[in-house]
Amino acid sequence: MIAPTALFAVDTLLTDEEREIRNTVRKVCDREIRPHVAGWFESGELPARELARGLGEVGVLGMHLEGYGCAGLGAVAYGLACLELEAADSGLRSLVSVQGSLAMYAIWKYGSEEQKQQWLPAMAAGERIGCFGLTEPDFGSDPAGMRTTAKREGGDWVLNGTKMWITNGSVADVAVVWARTDDGIRGFLVPAGTPGLTANDVKHKVSLRASVTSELVLDGVRLPEEAMLPGARGLSGPLGCLNEARFGIVFGAMGAALDCLETAIAYAGDREVFAKPLSAYQLTQEKLADMALELGKGLLLAVHLGRLKEAGTLTPEQVSAGKLNNVREALEIARTCRTLLGASGITLEYPVIRHAVNLESVLTYEGTSEIHTLVLGKALTGIPAFH
Ligand SMILES: Cc1cc2nc3c(=O)[nH]c(=O)nc-3n(C[C@H](O)[C@H](O)[C@H](O)COP(=O)(O)OP(=O)(O)OC[C@H]3O[C@@H](n4cnc5c(N)ncnc54)[C@H](O)[C@@H]3O)c2cc1C
Repeated sequence: MIAPTALFAVDTLLTDEEREIRNTVRKVCDREIRPHVAGWFESGELPARELARGLGEVGVLGMHLEGYGCAGLGAVAYGLACLELEAADSGLRSLVSVQGSLAMYAIWKYGSEEQKQQWLPAMAAGERIGCFGLTEPDFGSDPAGMRTTAKREGGDWVLNGTKMWITNGSVADVAVVWARTDDGIRGFLVPAGTPGLTANDVKHKVSLRASVTSELVLDGVRLPEEAMLPGARGLSGPLGCLNEARFGIVFGAMGAALDCLETAIAYAGDREVFAKPLSAYQLTQEKLADMALELGKGLLLAVHLGRLKEAGTLTPEQVSAGKLNNVREALEIARTCRTLLGASGITLEYPVIRHAVNLESVLTYEGTSEIHTLVLGKALTGIPAFH
C-alpha cells in the first residue's frame, strides 16, 4: 500500500525546510487540535484566543510576510501550513487565513509604518486577533455595491454600515473595514471597543462551526484620521488581500480532502461487507483511485501555483483556477468518502462529514465557484459576463 500523496511523489517537489514546516504544523494539529475539534464543531464554540496564541508560537500567523515579527517564509511553506491546518478543520485554517492573509496582509501592504508597528508584531504572536470586513448583507459577490460609508467630520472619519459573515468578528481586537468615501473605497482599522461598533455572532450554522462568524454593525463609529490605510484606494485594495487568502485555500482544501481520503481508505480496509473488506471491491477501488487522482492533481497544481507566487508571476486568474478546481474536487472527494463510510459517515466520530459541510462554506467564501468560473470565462473570451 502507498499513501495517496505518494502516488504523484509530491514531496520530491518540496525543500527540506518546507517538509519540516509541514511536519511541525501537522504535529501541533495532532496534539492540540485533532483531539478537540469535533467537540468544538459540535458545541459551535472555539477557544479562538487560546488557539491564536498557540498558532502564534508556532509562527504560522502571517508567516509569508516579511518583518514585524513575521517569519517571511515562501508561498509553498505557507500553503503547506494551510493544508495541515485544514486537514484538521477548515475553521482553523479560516482563523489563520483571515488573521495572516486578510487582516495582517492589509496592514502590511497598505498600512502606515505606525499602523504596522502597532498591530503586526502582536498579531504575528497571536496576542491580537484581526478580522476583515468586506461583505455586507446585500453585497457579497459584488462588493462594489457596498453601502458602508466613511465620512469626514472635522479631522475625524465617521463610519456607518453593516458587515456580514465576518470570520473572527466578535473575537477580533481590530477590524479591517472597507467603506465608501468621497474618494472611492478605502480601508479603516477599527479597534474593538470603539463606541458604535458591535459584533453579533451568526448562530445556527451547520458549516464551519469551529469558527467564529459575525455581523459587524458600525453606528456612527468615530475614528481619527490615522485610522485609514493610506496605501489602499478602490476595490483593488480588498481584492489584493482576497487573492492572498485564496491562495492558501488552494492548498487548504487539499488538506481536508486528504484527511477524508485517508480516513476512507482505513475504514474500507477494516469494514467487512458480504464477508470481504469493503476495499476489496472494484466499485470501492474505482472510487479510491479517482479520488487519489484528483487529490494528486490538486496538490501538484497547488505547488505549481506556489512556485509561481514565489517567482512573483502568479496572476489572479491562476489563483481563481486553483481555488475553483481544488475546492470543487475536495468537496467531491469528501462526499464520496462519506458514501464509503456508510451510516458511520454521518457522525462526528469520523472527520468526513465535518469536512464535507465545512467545504460548502469554503466553496462560497473568498469568491464563489460561480464567480471564479466567470473570472476564467472572462480570461478565455475577453468578455466579462458578471453583469
Ligand atoms: C463561513 C463564512 C465566512 C466568511 N468570512 C468572511 C469574512 O471574514 N469577511 C468577509 O468580508 N466576508 C466573509 N464571508 C462572506 C463571503 O465572502 C460571501 O458569502 C461570498 O462572497 C458570497 O456572497 P453572498 O453570500 O452574499 O452570496 P451572493 O453574492 O448573494 O451569491 C448568491 C449566489 O449567486 C451567485 N452569483 C453571484 N453573482 C453571480 C453572477 N454574476 N452570475 C451567476 N451567479 C452569480 C453566487 O455564486 C452564489 O451562488 C464569509 C462567508 C462564510 C459563509
